[in-house]
Amino acid sequence: MGRQRIWVAGHKGMVGSAVTRCLESRGDEVLKVDRSVVDLRDQRSVELWLKQNRADAIIFAAAKVGGIFANDAFPAEFIYDNLAIETNIIHSAHAANVDRLVFLGSSCIYPKFAPQPIKEEALLSGPLEPTNEWYAVAKIAGIKLCQAYRRQYGRRYISVMPCNLYGPNDSFDLTTSHVLPALMRKFHEAKCDGRRDVVVWGTGSPMREFLHVDDLAKGVVFCMDHYDGYEHINCGAGSEIAIRDLAELIACAVGFTGNIVFDSSKPDGTPRKLMDSSRIAKLGWRPQVALKDGIASTYKWYLERLHQSD
Ligand code: GDP
Repeated sequence: MGRQRIWVAGHKGMVGSAVTRCLESRGDEVLKVDRSVVDLRDQRSVELWLKQNRADAIIFAAAKVGGIFANDAFPAEFIYDNLAIETNIIHSAHAANVDRLVFLGSSCIYPKFAPQPIKEEALLSGPLEPTNEWYAVAKIAGIKLCQAYRRQYGRRYISVMPCNLYGPNDSFDLTTSHVLPALMRKFHEAKCDGRRDVVVWGTGSPMREFLHVDDLAKGVVFCMDHYDGYEHINCGAGSEIAIRDLAELIACAVGFTGNIVFDSSKPDGTPRKLMDSSRIAKLGWRPQVALKDGIASTYKWYLERLHQSD
């Protein structure tokens, strides 16, 4: 296939920037638009921009995202912003005759007590985890939008579900970010300030599956090229780790030698969410970055960024 014009919606975020790097490295033209130019929650501006910019395909990495605290504290933004962005982009893509789109979801779409590892078929088979059900319902609606436009209009719109992600351009905000960047920053700052204790939320026993965002980006581009199905497809690392062990791994990478203290008054969230990624593996995608190496390179990126802002 020749050089394609691909709109990466959300190109400044962790996922969108990784997808952009991946597409540009193979010679595709990436279309980008800043939020100051197009507010993705505004139907008219999204529709106009898409009609004027003639994309061959869209990678849909724009979303209102955040960790367990942000999801629980801002339910209105998590459901409204995500639903608005999804209806606007997917409907406008169809109206502008963009035939291919890859929608990105999350493993939190699955029921809280889904059998592990979680297969794609587990969707809508039980109640969701309450701390992120607002985001999950919006992401499920995104999958259904893609399926509806495929079914009614034959659009080649697909959905890819990543597990928990980490890497460059993640948010390191201590209250709203996800666990991996939050702990990296907490350990780093405790080391620099000479503090002995770092607080980790919850009991430390929940299990999570972490994939480096560069692996996910390759998976997304791989699906755009090789997958054209009605069902969403999982894209995960294939292994899980307890938050307690993750904390130790990050402390070690950062060089923090003090105490890790668990604050069990904070929520654990879902106990486990390991996905079954055998469908995408059969098509030929495999993750390449080991968690230890990915944490080391992300810490290096974090330090470089800190020095740039000095
Ligand atoms: P989740 O996968 O949607 O639950 O998202 P998170 O990445 O926010 O949280 C994963 C797990 O890490 C949860 O059990 C949290 O309670 C736990 N955790 C421990 N310390 C932290 C922290 O400092 N920030 C966040 N976001 N989560 C933490």
